[in-house]
Amino acid sequence: MIHNNNCDGAHCTSETGEVRTLPAGGDSNIILCAACFRHELAFRRERNRELYKDCAFDLPDWESLKVYGEPAQPIPVRRLTMSEIK
Ligand SMILES: [Zn+2]
Repeated sequence: MIHNNNCDGAHCTSETGEVRTLPAGGDSNIILCAACFRHELAFRRERNRELYKDCAFDLPDWESLKVYGEPAQPIPVRRLTMSEIK
């Protein structure tokens, strides 16, 4: 079975590839690849039909999710000055 080791889902279509952080309520997150994210959202849409609006799942865009494994703040690259090179 194909599974992305960084993904918490079970519907991966690739062993590699980007995974993103999906808030799962409270302080918890689930880490999903694009294929599992699509599956999760389909599940949430289905569940939302039965839930009151107040407790319905969020349906965020993939684009809005934070890429997992990337530093929150990019580390700035310090450029050498001419005097340091010489
Ligand atoms: Zn996956």
